[in-house]
Amino acid sequence: MARYTGPVCRLCRREGQKLYLKGDKCYTDKCPVSKRNYAPGQHGKGRRVKLSNYGVQLREKQKVRRYYGVSEKQMLKYYHMADKMEGITGENLLKTLELRLDNVAYRLGFASSRAEARQLVNHGHFTVNGRKSDVASHLMSVGDVIEVKQKSKSSEKFKELVENHQGNVKPWLQVDVENLQGKVVSEPSREDIELPIEEHLIVERYSK
Ligand code: SF4
Repeated sequence: MARYTGPVCRLCRREGQKLYLKGDKCYTDKCPVSKRNYAPGQHGKGRRVKLSNYGVQLREKQKVRRYYGVSEKQMLKYYHMADKMEGITGENLLKTLELRLDNVAYRLGFASSRAEARQLVNHGHFTVNGRKSDVASHLMSVGDVIEVKQKSKSSEKFKELVENHQGNVKPWLQVDVENLQGKVVSEPSREDIELPIEEHLIVERYSK
């Protein structure tokens, strides 16, 4: 399935909740979901269709796909991986998505959105454990170290980032802002993933 390239705020409005796809704008009162919380399009306002079970499951899946910016094919692959792991499949699915390299770079504050993080990864600005890594879907493990490539550290983008970085990251990560380096210190817990989602509905959808 081709990647969606239209206005991303429409995706949040379609799901009726913030998916934080636009970086800093998402935290301001310019966010359209704060102003107009109804579906986009001519008939969006006032139309609240009662969804079937299938529809509810589909919407939960789409929310997660859009939040992490993954294709249907990738999502299905992550589901199969999660299903084979010990523990709760839905939680395993979210934890696996969290460990994507683009998401880790975003969570460390090296990009303002996952889309930007993905672009930075694709352009080869990061190393993982000292080796260049330009695959956004690369799954990080506990103990892995991500670092901005030496050559990229002197760019305006990353100099600015060092100056403005807030320093606070999720408890499963550790950041060294000065050296533009981060480490996965443990697996993310479900509480660390603040997306209000009922992941069991996604599992129900895929397990049919
Ligand atoms: Fe747009 Fe961000 Fe608001 Fe979503 S949360 S509607 S991406 S500004």
